[in-house]
Amino acid sequence: MKCPKCGAEVKPQKTWQLVAPLPDAEGRITIIVMGSFKCPRCGYSWRQRISKIKVGPEGEIDLGEKKRKKKKEKKKNTEGKVIEVDLSDIYEEEL
Ligand SMILES: [Zn+2]
Repeated sequence: MKCPKCGAEVKPQKTWQLVAPLPDAEGRITIIVMGSFKCPRCGYSWRQRISKIKVGPEGEIDLGEKKRKKKKEKKKNTEGKVIEVDLSDIYEEEL
């Protein structure tokens, strides 16, 4: 990603995933990968979306045991692959 202030190429310091609480019309769930950046040249820091993933109705999103919030609504789709989603950073954001 490019620094919006000075244009330097900056790598994400950390990334995390945001899971849309509701599936879309085809029953797919959207996972957005976010990153936080800090420019080594000018010191500017920002957050930006890195990519977006859709998971089909056959897949399950496992939010793990760390946090309770949002967990229940993911229990509907049972069969299929499990995607590990670390929500710890999201909760940091919401506090
Ligand atoms: Zn910069």
